[in-house]
Amino acid sequence: MYCDLHTHSTASDGTTAPSDLAALAATCSLGAIALTDHDTTDGLDLCAEACRTAHVRFVPGIEISADPGPPPGADPDSPVRRGTLHILGLFVRGDDPHLGAVQQRMRAARDCRNPAIIDKLVELGVTIEYEEVLELARIEGTAILGRPHIAQVLVRKGYVKSVQDAFHRYLGQGAAAYVRRDRLPAAEAIEAVHHAGGLAVLAHPVQLGCRDEQQLTHAVRRLTDLGLDGVETRHSDHTRADTLRFEDLASRFDLLTSGGSDFHGSRKPVELGSQKVPFEVYERLAEEATRRR
Ligand code: AMP
Ligand code: ZN
Ligand code: FE
Ligand code: FE
Repeated sequence: MYCDLHTHSTASDGTTAPSDLAALAATCSLGAIALTDHDTTDGLDLCAEACRTAHVRFVPGIEISADPGPPPGADPDSPVRRGTLHILGLFVRGDDPHLGAVQQRMRAARDCRNPAIIDKLVELGVTIEYEEVLELARIEGTAILGRPHIAQVLVRKGYVKSVQDAFHRYLGQGAAAYVRRDRLPAAEAIEAVHHAGGLAVLAHPVQLGCRDEQQLTHAVRRLTDLGLDGVETRHSDHTRADTLRFEDLASRFDLLTSGGSDFHGSRKPVELGSQKVPFEVYERLAEEATRRR
């Protein structure tokens, strides 16, 4: 039996409702799933209830966008950034007030960034209005609006061929309409997860953009010093060699391992359960989360 400990729903930028994820998980023969929406715990209650009905174990989670810090060797105060740092919180209490305050902050940062992206697009001759993106969000019922939603509007209006194309041409890091968002310092992301009773796991380490093993070790050492509990070793962006590399890293730093597909429904070409993460991975994490309570 398998589990999938990294999924998104319509509470952020997935296209499957939190209550529909459970039945889908059951059809994929998954014994456990985690819902880890970007910067929100909004979908957790509905998903938990549906998982009870479907006899799928449920892990309440969140994925927090954190500041990766300046690249190695750069001035510590440098504003330059490379790569992406996402911290998964697994087994969090969704109603934790401290985690709630963090979600508010992240939402404010998005509300600031999204119109700035639209402004850049308009400057580039891509006529899109913020209202069109808000309308899509209203239809999907999400409060977490991000670049995938903007990308979808661009596809619909014929400016790009696909969501991937939208990121490549306009929205991705370094592309013409990229705007950096205020991100939470890693220490605060990890602390918020712990405050909510969860385990802090480094999501898709390959996205950190480390150039070599030395940089990767350095980054993981820093996060471990801040209280990191685990590393996501299996992920749709990882090759088999990456997974082995990250498993070795986890064992060197005595960290737990996790894994998941990063399912986003029809917004990404990734199937739920496709990472074939052994159920024991879920059990080991659940055991540790319980031990800490
Ligand atoms: P945001 O939260 O607005 O920063 O957008 C992040 C989301 O965009 C994540 O869910 C990613 O899955 C998605 N994303 C990031 N880069 C790409 C890409 N190159 N192609 C498609 N989706 C992407
Ligand atoms: Zn996403
Ligand atoms: Fe992520
Ligand atoms: Fe994700």
